Order: sequence, then C-alpha cells, then structure tokens
Amino acid sequence: MPVYFDNNATTRLDPRVLDAMLPYLSGPYGNASSLHRFGRAARDAVERAREQLAALLGCQPREIIWTSGGTESDNLALKGVTESAPGSRVLYGVTEHPAVLEACESLRARGWDIDTVAVGDDGVIDWPRFERQLAAGPLRLVSLMRANNETGVIQDVARAAELVHRAGAWLHVDAVQACGKIAVDFAALQADLMSVSSHKIYGPKGMGALIVRAEVELSPLHHGGVQERGLRGGTENVAAIVGFGAAAELAAQELETRATHLRALRDRFEQGLRAMPDARIFADHVERLPNTVQFAIAGYEGEALLMQLDRKGFAVSSGSACASGKGEPSHVLLGMGIAREIAEGAIRVSFGKDNTEAEVDRFLAALSELVWPTAMAPR
Ligand code: PLP
Repeated sequence: MPVYFDNNATTRLDPRVLDAMLPYLSGPYGNASSLHRFGRAARDAVERAREQLAALLGCQPREIIWTSGGTESDNLALKGVTESAPGSRVLYGVTEHPAVLEACESLRARGWDIDTVAVGDDGVIDWPRFERQLAAGPLRLVSLMRANNETGVIQDVARAAELVHRAGAWLHVDAVQACGKIAVDFAALQADLMSVSSHKIYGPKGMGALIVRAEVELSPLHHGGVQERGLRGGTENVAAIVGFGAAAELAAQELETRATHLRALRDRFEQGLRAMPDARIFADHVERLPNTVQFAIAGYEGEALLMQLDRKGFAVSSGSACASGKGEPSHVLLGMGIAREIAEGAIRVSFGKDNTEAEVDRFLAALSELVWPTAMAPR
C-alpha cells in the first residue's frame, strides 16, 4: 500500500465526515435561503456547522463567513479590507502562502503600498525590523500566518496583534495549517480576520471560512447574493459546510491525541534523519507544527528525490503543493536566507492522524537506500 505523507497538501476525508455529509447529498436539497421547510432544513444544517467550527476556533458563530477554501479566505481578507482604502499600506510575511503573497502583489500592481515582513534563518519574524516597519507611517493591514505550510514554523501572532493594533491597523492571520494541528483560538490570538480550510482537517475540499471581527470593515469579492451577510454571495454548499462542521467537531475532540501521535511520528522520523549523513532539517530549533518536517540531503535535488520516493510508494512534497512543478526553489526557504542550492533539495514530509510508526520506519529505510551510498561516498 502506498504511504501518504503529504497531509499539509491535503488530507483524506474522514469516513465519519463523509457519513455526516451523505444525507445532504442524497436527501434534503433545499436552498438555505428559502423560507419553506426544505430551506429551513438546509439553514439549520448550515448554522449547526457554524457552531461546530466556532467551538473549534474560539470565535462567535456570527463571525464566520463560509468560503470555498483558504485561497478565497485569504483573498477576501486582503482585498476586502483594503478595497475601501485605495493606496493604503499593507504588510505581509515573506514566508506566506501564495494565496496571501499573490493577493498582496495584485494590490501592489493596482497602486497599494505593499511591503514584506522579514524572517530570520529560523523562519521566525524579525521582530525589531517589524516594529520599525509598523512605526513607519499609517498602515491598513498586516497579514501573517500562524504556521507555515512548508517548515511548520509557528509565529507568535498574539504578539504581532498587539503591535499591529498599536499601529492602528488590522491583523489577518492565515491559520489554514495551524487549525486542527495546534490549538487555534481566534479571541486569544487577537486576530481581526483569520483564514481556515476544511480539506486540511479531514473535511471536504473546496470549503473554508474567513473569521471576521464585527468591527472590521470588509467589502465582498462577489456581488449578487445576500448570503453570509452579503459578504460572500452565492448559494451555500450545504453538504460541504456540514462536512467542515463535522471535521471541526472531530478536530476539537481529538486535538490532543492527534498532536501527541503526530509529534511522536515526527520525533521518530527526525531521529532517523539526523543519523543520515548530510541531512539538514530546516527550522528545527524553533516551535513548529507537530506533523511537519522539511529537510534536504546535500547533493540531492528535491523533485528528483520526490519522484524516486514515489516509485518506492511514498508520497511527500518538495515544497508547498501549489509551488511544485514550477521548478523554482521554495520562496519560504529563500525568504529565510537559505542558499538556493540547498533550498533546491527541500523535501517536506507532513504526517496525518492515520499514519503509523511502522510507516515512518519503512520510509526511513527507503530514504537511506536511496541516498546512503552516495551520501557516504567521498566527494
Ligand atoms: N494558506 C496556507 C497556509 C495553505 O497551506 C494553503 C494550502 O495549502 C492555503 C492557504 C490555501 O488553502 P486552500 O487549498 O483551501 O485554497
């Protein structure tokens, strides 16, 4: 059986989530905006899911806007907050996901004043530089991720929130990777907007949410619908919303056990990796997600190694799923100041709740079979 170690790209739909969704694919088909009983049944399901997600995220159900996923949530946050302030200043982290990065770059192209927040070689925000940027004049929005999809590095966004608020700006947090892997509490993080995605937590694909505090002025991306308080028009995908709600409830119930299991897999893997010559684990001295390891083995090109591992039955990533196939080294590692030739070797392993220690051991054996002879050879 092939082994799937690419859970930051996406996760398998949990069978319990599928069970929750099925009735809404085959049964009640009302439009959640309709006033009759068909519509009310759909509306009840949508609102129950909102409560389930709110319980996972420590937010109010009314602060949730359903979207089609993390990419849309990030775009809605960035464009929705800046729409009413043309040309205003926006900062985003240099290691952000392309959904944030490219949304910001599209704003820059249309005249907004965009700058990046630098990180050190450990992937953590360069705080002194960030504080200088915050003091440099009026600011509308800052976008920072809670956890990085490639390295797993966790940022102290609550600390950032305090500084950003003092500077009179809003803070958007991309919590797509953190959600379901570590505790994510919207109120405690003091974020103003926060993106999450269902398919990263064993829910259906094409489903996500943007959490927005009531005070934030947000413009919609789409026009022509009253759904989600007019902020995200379009008939709700009831089955997917129900699935996201069910996945959120399971994530809340199982957060601790999943994290403990994932950390054990990660530590076992890293121990094996450290014993291999010329292996380098990125950002291994800072707080990271319990399931994520990004590494490189000197002399090996990431995508070539990925394909060799695939032939041996192991699915990993050579960076973020969205960046793969471009042949460009990871902007995350480059942003951390890692040399291009080292970044080109990056492999990301991201464990999921259903992976086992036996799979980790088989993977380590397969990896050393591939790299050991060359890595041991004198150069
Ligand atoms: N933000 C981060 C940090 C991600 O890792 C991803 C997906 O990999 C996204 C946003 C985009 O989410 P989606 O795939 O739901 O559009």
